Amino acid sequence: MTQIKNIGVFTSGGDAPGMNAAIRAVVRAAMYYGIEVTGIRRGYDGMGKGDFFTMNRKSVSNIIQRGGTILKTARCDEFRTPEGRKAAYEHLVKNKVDALVAIGGDGTFTGAKVFGSEYDIPVVGLPGTIDNDLVGTDFTIGYDTAINTVVDAVDKIRDTAESHDRLFIVEVMGRDSGLIALRTGIATGAEAILIPESKTGLEGLLNRLEFGRKDKTSRIVIVAEGEDAGGAFEVGRLVQEKFPNYDTRISILGHIQRGGAPSCMDRVLASRVGAAAVEALRDGHRNEMIGLINGEIAYTPFEHAIKHHQGIDPNMIKLVEMLSM
Ligand code: ATP
Repeated sequence: MTQIKNIGVFTSGGDAPGMNAAIRAVVRAAMYYGIEVTGIRRGYDGMGKGDFFTMNRKSVSNIIQRGGTILKTARCDEFRTPEGRKAAYEHLVKNKVDALVAIGGDGTFTGAKVFGSEYDIPVVGLPGTIDNDLVGTDFTIGYDTAINTVVDAVDKIRDTAESHDRLFIVEVMGRDSGLIALRTGIATGAEAILIPESKTGLEGLLNRLEFGRKDKTSRIVIVAEGEDAGGAFEVGRLVQEKFPNYDTRISILGHIQRGGAPSCMDRVLASRVGAAAVEALRDGHRNEMIGLINGEIAYTPFEHAIKHHQGIDPNMIKLVEMLSM
């Protein structure tokens, strides 16, 4: 058992629904074990500037249902430099913070890995990103809420598509990963999806529209923002050029996908891994992400968690095609 007296907690990178539930779990679990908690505002930026405050039970009252992050979040270029990380470490020492819980995505863990190798301070991470693009957890905190938001929005778009016999190209988030597009494509009965991992890409989509069933009245195509053809507007332009008879419209869902009250799944996930992070620090873990695999807490070294290898199951891509016949 490692004697940890004061855990610093922060959120970093893009915000995700459920981050607040994770902060709450870290604070309450730490109190349970008699450990103090220091809140660090705006991620690595606040760490480098000493923007710290003491948290207690009440600091996390009434936040489990709120989207965003009460600790705020930021991207911070100084932390990429040795001087920036030195300033952060000095503030941690000054404030007697002797362990860290980082809540964020792959960039956050890349920073944590570098920091943990330079300075003798245990750091563990919680997967907080809507992208679900980390290895070492079945789902990331925020993903479930985000995909439900997308499904809700696409269902509404479908009403218009059906009423006007239109083809809608809907762009969803996912710079490097098509996991949001894939799952929501299945759940909304999309005609096709276009994702960075796709082998057939734009050509596959155009073929599908050319040779697919002709008697459909509405069509939904889900496009991940990071796919190769250049996003929904470019895809829409090419589709319109090739199929001038289709009444094609574009919809970019944008930031609504990040916001809103976290789903039950995200709250429970965040609560479980948040409490487990405190226990992991007590048990001497460091430089690991705490995730959930098959319902069990899982510990994955940062360098492995950020490898993006969760990958896309080709059967899921086939499923979209098979079911939209
Ligand atoms: P999301 O997946 O939602 O975008 P993220 O955690 O990947 O979240 P990033 O903006 O990529 O978000 O990273 C967050 C912060 O982590 C960066 O602003 C930077 O301060 C820090 N960081 C990222 N990469 C490094 C690195 N190589 N060295 C040091 N710090 C880094």
